Amino acid sequence: MTAPAATLVEDVSRLILDVPDFPQPGILFKDLTPVLADPPAFAGVVDWLAAVATGDPTGPVTAVVGIESRGFLLGGPLALRLAVPFLPVRKAGKLPRAVLEESYELEYGSAILALHADALPRGGRVLIVDDVLATGGTAAAATALVRRAGGTVAGVAVLLELAALGGRPRLAPLPVHALLTG
Ligand code: AMP
Repeated sequence: MTAPAATLVEDVSRLILDVPDFPQPGILFKDLTPVLADPPAFAGVVDWLAAVATGDPTGPVTAVVGIESRGFLLGGPLALRLAVPFLPVRKAGKLPRAVLEESYELEYGSAILALHADALPRGGRVLIVDDVLATGGTAAAATALVRRAGGTVAGVAVLLELAALGGRPRLAPLPVHALLTG
């Protein structure tokens, strides 16, 4: 586990805003847009993600998967920093070519995530990036897509882990890296 600097943790936790009852009653939405609007904090987050990716003792990360849509905002800059491919995992119906799809359960109903079937070079080692880890269903579906595409998942990295919702044990034994835990 790559420990972030204490000042970065303080800055990012101050910047992330709690929005009650969005997008529906009972949800406390974690709004990371102020982090993106603060260049030193945003750069610090990308630095931390890069440290996670390069500090993996089991091997190099050869691609970054970002989960639609806020995972794109963090995963894109990380992939550029690492000089490795960025691969988007999108909601069903958005990717234009042949896809692999995984359905997963939401609090109410289910959803489908997709990855271009030819996205991943065989043997690729992928870091999956998103903004928030809650129940882990989204990251688990992305993990299944990467594996079906012939890749290995090195870990899941998020800005914020909502620990009470059980994402980390659900993804075990996959390494989960979180800048903040709430
Ligand atoms: P889950 O599949 O339950 O781990 O949910 C993670 C996905 O839902 C991520 O893509 C997050 O962007 C989003 N998400 C879940 N809960 C929240 C929250 N409280 N605030 C912001 N985004 C959330």
